[in-house]
Amino acid sequence: MTDILDSPIEYLKAVGPQRGDLLKKELRIFTFRDLLHYFPFRYIDKSVLNSVRQIPEIDGYVQLKGFIKSIKKTGIGRAKRLSALFTDDTGSIELTWFAGITYVEGNLFVNRPLLIYGKPKMYGASWSIAHPDIEYLAVDQILSKQLLPVYSSTEKASAKGLHAKGIAKLLENLLEQIHGYNFHEVFPNDLLQKIKLLSRNEALRQIHYPLNADLAQAARYRLKFEELFFLQMELLLRKQIGKSRTKSFVFENVGDVFLNFYKNNLPFELTNAQKRVVKEIRADFFTGTQMNRLLQGDVGSGKTMVALLTMLIAVGNGYQATLMAPTEILAQQHYQSLLEVLQGTDVNIRLLTGSTKTKERRAIHEGLENGSVHILLGTHAIIEPKVKFHNLGLAVIDEQHRFGVAQRSKLYKKNTMPPHILVMTATPIPRTLALSFYGDLDVSVIDELPPGRKPIKTVHYRESHRLRVFGFIKEQIELGRQIYVVYPLIKESETLDYQNLLQGYESIVREFPLPDYRVAIVHGQMKPEDKDFEMARFVKGQAQIMVATTVIEVGVNVPNASVMVIESSERFGLAQMHQLRGRVGRGAEQSFCILMSGDKLSAEGKKRLQTMCETNDGFVIAEVDMEIRGPGDIMGTQQSGLIDLKIADLARDGSILTEARNAAMTILDQDSNLEKPEHHALREQIRKIIKSKPDWSRVG
Ligand code: ADP
Ligand code: MG
Repeated sequence: MTDILDSPIEYLKAVGPQRGDLLKKELRIFTFRDLLHYFPFRYIDKSVLNSVRQIPEIDGYVQLKGFIKSIKKTGIGRAKRLSALFTDDTGSIELTWFAGITYVEGNLFVNRPLLIYGKPKMYGASWSIAHPDIEYLAVDQILSKQLLPVYSSTEKASAKGLHAKGIAKLLENLLEQIHGYNFHEVFPNDLLQKIKLLSRNEALRQIHYPLNADLAQAARYRLKFEELFFLQMELLLRKQIGKSRTKSFVFENVGDVFLNFYKNNLPFELTNAQKRVVKEIRADFFTGTQMNRLLQGDVGSGKTMVALLTMLIAVGNGYQATLMAPTEILAQQHYQSLLEVLQGTDVNIRLLTGSTKTKERRAIHEGLENGSVHILLGTHAIIEPKVKFHNLGLAVIDEQHRFGVAQRSKLYKKNTMPPHILVMTATPIPRTLALSFYGDLDVSVIDELPPGRKPIKTVHYRESHRLRVFGFIKEQIELGRQIYVVYPLIKESETLDYQNLLQGYESIVREFPLPDYRVAIVHGQMKPEDKDFEMARFVKGQAQIMVATTVIEVGVNVPNASVMVIESSERFGLAQMHQLRGRVGRGAEQSFCILMSGDKLSAEGKKRLQTMCETNDGFVIAEVDMEIRGPGDIMGTQQSGLIDLKIADLARDGSILTEARNAAMTILDQDSNLEKPEHHALREQIRKIIKSKPDWSRVG
């Protein structure tokens, strides 16, 4: 039997082929079901009427009843705008439009009774409402007591009548047409009762045309819960299946290589957090199934040592290990520092990057294939098909957020049985994101910094205080410290950004002249050899100041550097600034981060700089970052496409997410294959979800 919800959208009353095309192209609505799942983002409450005089006391939307007294057009081109003076019995307020002006103008009438709905904002000294909803009233029309749904739309769709109201009308038609249709419940009864969820049938109707605000709220809750529940259920099942099916190598014991290193070479005592994580990883190695573990730890928490110890366990058990880093500089630095700590051991460690010379590359390929290379460090050059291992047992990915899922899975294929996988990230991500994007991984956290670190002091200075900043840098250099000065560099404004960087460099060289001072510079347009040379001067302490673009963002480690100056800091994202700040504060001295900015700051820019000055805690910063930017931007487009949420919001619905994940875990604990009769509907639903995702093919 065909399901009416599968009907193509053009068959809906008042749609037809032309609007059908628009719905598909602009809003990705293909079927009745898609439209039903196109949820309103707010409601207009027609039952409440406010007055102009009340506006200063109301936070949020208002509905006003009155007249338009005059209409005025100003500006030209992009600055064009339309304004109207609206009056009720208590006062006047300006209405403004910045877009769609021609259309709006044709529908504005002076002295006709109307209702307007919108969010008043202060501009200068007076209030105004931008882009209000407008509805003309018949002379003594009674207000309808209803919540009207408001849907988002695009400019193109709006122009053809598929604006918020047009879509609301379509939904009215749809709900009429499927009157009597029963949306089957997917959740078992006890869950519905325990969490007091609205039934699915009711939620899908109430979400569009709710009887009252409470029901609207309940419907939203139910649908968010459902969305997050299935997301988590899917991840938990994926983890469960991965655990039971993906066999991997057993590392019987930690082995002599590890033990000898621990006894003779370990340069410092591990923190408790590092010890705990190494134990967690060791436990995975005994199980015979593949480890898939995410290691989270703030910048400077010492993840590299954990990675090395883990690799040494693999090597001691007769396997090879590899560590992949996102940039050449970082891979090189890992190589240098691991070479150093491994001195006096028999561990053969090599570096493979895009700039490895052919002869060297050949030697490495050979060593990997005959097993004489034990540990391979490198960039994504490692995952090229030409690179074959004798017996890869463990792959570590540093700064995982910079790679896509595809790269992780390429590493799986580097051995007949997939190697164990450890992914590390220094960009703390909010818990909701971690659970949603990495819910199929086990998670370890290093929540402790090595001892003796003083919290970095962060201050914000405007351009006018530059001389004071230079003075401070001189003091620090006199104390023997080194300084980073970092400039923004983004593709869109690359030429200008390089100019700024070079100008900045010149003014620093003028201010800090030879022979007392030496200034190094590193940026993306330099030849790799020159970059290495300059970087090495700074690492060895031969240069006191390093002027750079964000190429130094990840991983670079110079413990003697105590000041990070971030130029035009208002142009950096929070996560990026936090990463940059993590380059200092690695030694025992007090370190500083100086955020330079222009005089004018946007509200968002201000909030970012303020957050940086207030906290050093990467997780707090991650939460604020998600509030400002939204989850999609944080995970990067590559990964955010994996999760397509229609109603839940990972930035705001953290507690619903936790509840949904717990509910999913409880059910799987009792019935891991969803075989009980009360779980059949769940199983059907999850099967549909799985079928729609091609990468599940191996699950069957
Ligand atoms: P991240 O977690 O950001 O990758 P690193 O592994 O680069 O941090 O470590 C940062 C610095 O801390 C390095 O100089 C490293 O040698 C040092 N370090 C790591 N663990 C300890 C420890 N337990 N005690 C003292 N210093 C440590
Ligand atoms: Mg690191």
